[in-house]
Amino acid sequence: MKKIPFNIPPRTGNEEKYIHEAIASGHICGDGEFTRKCSAFLEKDTGAERVLLATSGTHALELAAHLCDIQPGDEVILPSYTFSSTANAFALEGATLVFVDIDPDTMNISPEAIERAITSKTKVICVVHYAGVGCDMNKICDIASRHGLLLVEDAAQAVCADYDGKRLGTFGQFGCYSFHETKNYSMGEGGALLINDPAYIERAEIIREKGTDRSRFLRGQVDKYTWRDIGSSYLPSELNAAYLWAQLEMFREINENRLESWQRYYNGLADLSLAGKIELPVIPVNCSHNAHMFYIKTKDLAERTALSAFLRNKGIVASFHYVPLHSAEAGLKYGRFDGEDLYTTRESERLLRLPMYYGLDSEDIDLVVNAIQEFYNDAAQ
Ligand SMILES: *Cc1c(COP(=O)(O)O)cnc(C)c1O
Repeated sequence: MKKIPFNIPPRTGNEEKYIHEAIASGHICGDGEFTRKCSAFLEKDTGAERVLLATSGTHALELAAHLCDIQPGDEVILPSYTFSSTANAFALEGATLVFVDIDPDTMNISPEAIERAITSKTKVICVVHYAGVGCDMNKICDIASRHGLLLVEDAAQAVCADYDGKRLGTFGQFGCYSFHETKNYSMGEGGALLINDPAYIERAEIIREKGTDRSRFLRGQVDKYTWRDIGSSYLPSELNAAYLWAQLEMFREINENRLESWQRYYNGLADLSLAGKIELPVIPVNCSHNAHMFYIKTKDLAERTALSAFLRNKGIVASFHYVPLHSAEAGLKYGRFDGEDLYTTRESERLLRLPMYYGLDSEDIDLVVNAIQEFYNDAAQ
């Protein structure tokens, strides 16, 4: 039986060559030539004031949270339907987490729920662009500016995706990318912090470099570097940056290839959707997504469980994720849910992600589509 994995880490062919070059250069710690190339590429692509590579998407979020200068009692509004890292970053700073509901069509944070959750203690709104599809940034940026709140974008899944023709990750003060092996572009473990307000650049560089002004020293702006602030080590090694460079060189190709796979799933499953058996992802008109994910929604949890077992028996790995954070042990401890959970739990229980990766074979997509059709046809008899 042919096996179709859920994910294969992206590989373009030049990774080994660049890693050898990094070794030969005699410089394998952080902030060498490959890191510079990757940051410059991402600054040009996104238009962010500064892009700093980090050791993970999680660490990019932690850098952003630290730069928000959270004080005891400050509240951060975020979706409950997200990865633990989004919440951890702010909980580590001592913030109170205020989880809110999502819009069921995109699984993204609901602007109305954000506005309802704002109190005099609210300091930050942190949005998550789920599946590389942008949140409703027109409304959310308006809310943030009307209430004088900081805006952080967890754009871990949204590299190369736009909202109103502008890259996701460039709307708030900070955007956070992930280059984990499950993301569209990878370096094994890694990420990047996008800084969109130049006022934060110097402090960000210091926090990232163990609290020192070594970045300014390396640019010749100071003659020695000293301990300036509390910080940590968020620099990825050049070996990882070399891997990422091989991916960024193929930036458009990777995106187009994923979009083709996404569209093939969409077309193949359209009949089942029209027949009301499943639901397909919704891409709002303002959004140009990056095919980070292809998911379907089944009727309910029981149907999802049966379908994923059916697919597993055919060698196809489909997965789901995100037990809503507000109902998780740490979520109960560090936060609260504001308003009513109309969609978070219900929708998360029926979402099933299909295999999606760079270079996914179109015949394999057809096998997955046929298997899903077979499941629903059998069920009808
Ligand atoms: C992947 C991901 C992260 C974490 O990124 P890492 O690079 O794995 O640390 C954070 N938030 C979201 C929404 C993600 O998908």
